[in-house]
Amino acid sequence: MTSRILYVPFDHLNRNKGVLKDRNPKTDVVLLVESARMITGRDFHKERLFFLISSARHFVQELKAEGIKVEYIKAATTVAGLDKAKSSYGDLPIYCAEPSSFRSFAQLTEYGVNFVPNDLFLTSRQDFMTWAKSQKTYVMENFYRAQRVRLDILVNAGKPEGGQWNFDADNRLPPPKDYVWPEYLYHERDEIDLEVAKELDYTPTKTWATTHKGALAQLDNFITNHLDGFGPYEDAVTKDNWALHHSLLSPYLNNGLLDPQVAIDAVVKAYESGKARIQSVEAFIRQVIGWREYVNGMYWFLGEDYKYKNGLNAQLPLLPVFRNSKATEMNCVSSVVKDIEDRSWVHHIPRLMILSNLALITGTNPQEFLDWMREAFIDASDWVMVPNVIGMGVHADGGIMMTKPYAAGGAYISRMTQYCKGCKYNPKLRVGEDACPFTTLYWDFLDRHKEEFVKNHRMSQQVYGLKKLSDLEELKVRANQVITGLSAGQI
Ligand SMILES: Cc1cc2nc3c(=O)[nH]c(=O)nc-3n(C[C@H](O)[C@H](O)[C@H](O)COP(=O)(O)OP(=O)(O)OC[C@H]3O[C@@H](n4cnc5c(N)ncnc54)[C@H](O)[C@@H]3O)c2cc1C
Repeated sequence: MTSRILYVPFDHLNRNKGVLKDRNPKTDVVLLVESARMITGRDFHKERLFFLISSARHFVQELKAEGIKVEYIKAATTVAGLDKAKSSYGDLPIYCAEPSSFRSFAQLTEYGVNFVPNDLFLTSRQDFMTWAKSQKTYVMENFYRAQRVRLDILVNAGKPEGGQWNFDADNRLPPPKDYVWPEYLYHERDEIDLEVAKELDYTPTKTWATTHKGALAQLDNFITNHLDGFGPYEDAVTKDNWALHHSLLSPYLNNGLLDPQVAIDAVVKAYESGKARIQSVEAFIRQVIGWREYVNGMYWFLGEDYKYKNGLNAQLPLLPVFRNSKATEMNCVSSVVKDIEDRSWVHHIPRLMILSNLALITGTNPQEFLDWMREAFIDASDWVMVPNVIGMGVHADGGIMMTKPYAAGGAYISRMTQYCKGCKYNPKLRVGEDACPFTTLYWDFLDRHKEEFVKNHRMSQQVYGLKKLSDLEELKVRANQVITGLSAGQI
């Protein structure tokens, strides 16, 4: 006799966590809802929809193969799906792990769903609150060090393995020359994948796995071929390889197919057996137990209104190039947007130093930029996009998360990427038609916000640099032309 409905959202696909952890096979039915609103409600990248839906359907198939009672309901909305389940099974109590967004939390609370703690992260929301409330500023590095100790990861008698908590200074190398990158791992498509692809009228890439087994194969590929080189080149951007040594694990960590603890254990094991150097192992661990957990914690800590912040009063509408890689002649921006069109993913530096930097220094409206990022990326969710975009990417929170904005001119892009060679624009020039728009806009941005930035000791040096510019007036005129040109898709 069924007595409970266990509702599993599409980002809780882990049979040992959340609401499935204490499943009673005799009395529970597991429910997943494929909501039409998810598919048609926004202009989501089809690669992303394909990944999310196919992963959910594979998950259902796996549960069924184990003899678990599962319902997969297609409905207009999540609530309509819950109603349908109730009409089949009776007015039973519905249980779910705490959802991953404020919106979903409010919706399910209103529906009367009972929540169990969300243990798909390594840090409970409560533990993060306790940490945040004890801090004057929310510096990620402090959180990360506490995480290393709390989770007992590469710490011996309170001291970090390798003698340092952070090996950033050894990393951050520019793109290497004549370097042989490992082959990409491709995931073959099966019947479920093809069915989803047909329904979406889309031909997916073979980049993203849609099963737990595929996610583990991706982890294994990362450990074998990439982990050792991860640290040194984590900030580099190359033209000949879109993945470099990045793990490509975020989609699975975020939809539940890969448990972060499993990823961390595998990385620590690889280090202990001498397969990877400490500077890479530490860098990866910091991303997962530090940044990922911090961003999720901050999302809940900062509250629902945080996503509407616009501390720099940026009002420019979203530039056409974000939605169309052909709408600019800037080689870096066009190439990065093309990569997103192709597979719904680029690594951290293009997200931060090219896309967000462009939005930041052009004064693009943060919420319009956030909406686009949410729709374009395979691994996007509210909890992870909101802090990354509003806090880290475009500094719209006035410095709550990051002590300074990540603004950079063409010199940074020229050093860390291979896009400048052959580009129409010259990163060394700040005025004139050949000037790199990043260089022009960087100085213009500093000038527009000099009053607030000069008070920030991490920015004052850059602001004082304005005084050395003899061509500031000419630069401001050019910056206006650049913004007008970018807005018309003609720069
Ligand atoms: C503006 C902006 C938007 C971003 N949006 C997202 C997003 O929607 N979803 C997402 O998962 N990540 C996001 N990130 C963080 C990061 O860029 C991606 O996690 C990473 O590029 C995913 O590729 P990977 O799995 O190969 O990561 P790796 O470089 O191999 O890193 C390992 C893992 O660390 C975690 N991680 C690293 N940095 C972050 C971070 N800042 N926030 C959260 N997790 C992190 C991810 O789980 C990632 O899989 C964003 C960063 C920026 C600057």
